[in-house]
Amino acid sequence: MLKIKVNSRIRDIEGSSTLAITARAKELAAQGRDVVNFAAGEPDFDTPASIKAAAIRAIESGFTKYTPSIGTPELRKAIAKKFKNDNRLEYTPEQIAVSCGAKHSIYNIIQVLADAGEEVLIPAPYWVSYPEMVKLAGATPKFIETTAHARFKITPAQLKAHISDKTKLLILNSPSNPTGMIYSKKELEAIAAICVENNIFVISDEIYEKLVYDTPHYTSIASFGKEIYNLTITVNGVSKAYSMTGWRIGYSAGAKEIMGYINKFQDHSTSNPSSISQMAALQALNEPEEVTAAMCAEFKKRRDLMTAAFDRIPGVKYVKPDGAFYLFCDFSKFGVSLDIARQILDDVNVAVIPGEGFGAPGYIRLSFATSDERIKEGTKRIADWIKKRL
Ligand code: PMP
Ligand code: GLU
Repeated sequence: MLKIKVNSRIRDIEGSSTLAITARAKELAAQGRDVVNFAAGEPDFDTPASIKAAAIRAIESGFTKYTPSIGTPELRKAIAKKFKNDNRLEYTPEQIAVSCGAKHSIYNIIQVLADAGEEVLIPAPYWVSYPEMVKLAGATPKFIETTAHARFKITPAQLKAHISDKTKLLILNSPSNPTGMIYSKKELEAIAAICVENNIFVISDEIYEKLVYDTPHYTSIASFGKEIYNLTITVNGVSKAYSMTGWRIGYSAGAKEIMGYINKFQDHSTSNPSSISQMAALQALNEPEEVTAAMCAEFKKRRDLMTAAFDRIPGVKYVKPDGAFYLFCDFSKFGVSLDIARQILDDVNVAVIPGEGFGAPGYIRLSFATSDERIKEGTKRIADWIKKRL
């Protein structure tokens, strides 16, 4: 084995459990095992045909060269229009950067804003990549633990209690991966006021904005006035709303001064996201609302199917998700989630994600981005697995 001294920030980074288990489930399925995949963090629908056609047109017309690093002016103009119409947010195209997925957008912002010695507040449970991205920037993640009782949301008092003179940034994700919770307008207003008072930047990860099931919702914290607008970088993308995870287009918007640094950072790292994918994303943003609404309606039915199945399984608790496509279940009665997930995969061929990677040991994340038939089959297998242990 080669002994190599690597960069100290990279050395201690954890791999992504979501990506690793999804890959393992696909590998087992390719070997012929009948695996039910509840691990997937992506919609199972095909990308709509009109979006694919736009990409094919881009290839055939020779739109296959570099674009500006932060995306074509046309795409950034379409994103500005989306923010205005959907989120009541006024951004000029100069305030918008297109990146290789929302993951890349978030990575860039953290690299630009968070410095060594500074703290980044992350409500837990959190999406796997946030803490590792903060560590990669040399800054320190500081977790705000939430409970199922509080619907996995931070309270203003909790936020205040975690602020120190080192606090630089808060990462908010609503609707949330992995819990599916959504902050109300009132809750967001209270968080915004605290961030303004303490001069804390906010990353608002709104990637699941279009996948909401019950109450009318309000996602954009940046819309509560000039001060919070200047402190917030709003992130979104086409991956989840248009079933385009493989195309790698995400975007961010914020104060001109911050976005200027993101532009420079992207100039020297990835340059532009694929020109072809940008054309596909432009088409996606011009699609009628019904395209995402139809997928959302389907996810809602599947959520109801999966929660109804778990209502019949003793020993497992969950808080009904309001958005995204995950059910986050308390399996703590059955041991450590890493072991549980491994056993469920080995014993009954169902792939699920253990809570450890989300900062929630004892929990298991199940994605309902799969067919009704697979949801019925997978939940039946889990029920059988549990029956043997009660
Ligand atoms: N944020 C959250 C909360 C996510 O679950 C994901 C997962 N895909 C992303 C960001 C990144 O999305 P993208 O595919 O656009 O990089
Ligand atoms: N975000 C999805 C998930 O949480 C996709 C995998 C990833 O990028 O981490 O499963």
